[in-house]
Amino acid sequence: MTESFDTKLLPDALLHDLGVTEPSEIDLDVLAWRVGATVRRHRLRDCEARVTGFNDRAIITVTDNVAPTRQRFSIAHELGHWYHHRGYALTCRSVEIGSADAARNDAERVADRYAADLLMPAYLFHARLKAAKASDWTGVRAVAKEFCVSPLAAAIRIIESDRYPLLLVCHDAQGRRWFKAANSLQGRCFPRPDLDSDTPAFALLYGHREQQKPCSSPGLTWFERGLASQIPVQEHSMSDGNSIYTLLLLNTKDLDRRASR
Ligand SMILES: [Zn+2]
Repeated sequence: MTESFDTKLLPDALLHDLGVTEPSEIDLDVLAWRVGATVRRHRLRDCEARVTGFNDRAIITVTDNVAPTRQRFSIAHELGHWYHHRGYALTCRSVEIGSADAARNDAERVADRYAADLLMPAYLFHARLKAAKASDWTGVRAVAKEFCVSPLAAAIRIIESDRYPLLLVCHDAQGRRWFKAANSLQGRCFPRPDLDSDTPAFALLYGHREQQKPCSSPGLTWFERGLASQIPVQEHSMSDGNSIYTLLLLNTKDLDRRASR
């Protein structure tokens, strides 16, 4: 795929150019117009969003039967394709937008990165994380609301920021689908493939019981081996009706202490 390298059209440059100083000022229709794209919202059957371009103009179409936060992420994702993959007509299915699943192709990951940079720019997002803790779903939802994104999109961005020793694990009835760890935990924690029946996450998957607050669980319920299996972990899960998303917060001081023994 071809790459466009006009740095003035990168997310931070666009947002600064438009004078955006608050998350509420991130207007995707205006940003799209700034890069030559028009956004249309109507029902799509075979995909969630698509971008069709000709010369310097593009039309981005997003399906209107998903939540507004999801529509925003999909539009930003298509703007990512418009920047990085100009000259290609792209259609994106739901599973290709806004996931941390490493099995997706590079183009989808690149478009998601652009979307996250546009909707949750580092210069606003990091300041927000400094102001209040967001290491469980209650905190993550508050951040998501402020930036008008889904809790899942905010959680992935928070983990990528490496602000907390946090993992996000996604399970469904077939077992673990994917997980994403903060950089500070890379290579130190590998979650079990199946949910332990003693965890609130398991109750949420099979009993549909909401987990209102995070709780502490033995590390062994989440990690088969390694130092992470020897210390308690804070877990908090939410469901989207199909999958369970669990935030696991580790105590890195405990990890480091055990590692030095
Ligand atoms: Zn895509």
